[in-house]
Amino acid sequence: MTIDFSAYDDNNVFARIIRGELPSKKLYEDEQVLAFHDIAPQAPVHVLVVPKGRYIAQSDFHENAGEAEIAAFWRAVARICRELEVAERGHRLIANEGSDSGQLVAHFHVHILAGRRLGRLVAEDS
Ligand code: AMP
Repeated sequence: MTIDFSAYDDNNVFARIIRGELPSKKLYEDEQVLAFHDIAPQAPVHVLVVPKGRYIAQSDFHENAGEAEIAAFWRAVARICRELEVAERGHRLIANEGSDSGQLVAHFHVHILAGRRLGRLVAEDS
C-alpha cells in the first residue's frame, strides 16, 4: 500500500475515528486529544494517542501546532500512562514517521506499549 505523506488526507482512519464515523475503544478524550486502544495490539497495553488537529506525523505536529496544543498532547500522554499504571513498570512510546518507519496511518499518533518486557528497540532488517 502506498501512502501519500505529502498532504493531510481528511479520510484517513484516525480522522474518521475523531469525527465519530468509525468506532474505537476510547480511553481518554478532551478538546484537543483522543486516545483509544489499537485494533491489533502488539503488547498487553497498546494505546494510540492522537491530537484532534490535522497533522500528518510528528514533524508536522511539532512544526505547526501551537504551544498549548503540543503541551496538551504530551500532558495527555503522561496522564494516560499514569492512569494505565504503566509508569512504574515502564512503557515505550513510539511515533512512526514516513515509509521507512512503517507508518500506516498518516495522522500523527503516539503508540503507548506496555504490560510485558518489550525486547529490542528495532527488529533486524527483513
Ligand atoms: P503506524 O504504523 O504507526 O501508522 O500505526 C498505525 C496503527 O493503527 C497500527 O498499530 C494499527 O493496528 C492501528 N489501527 C489501524 N486502524 C485502526 C482502528 N480502526 N482502530 C484502532 N487502531 C487502528
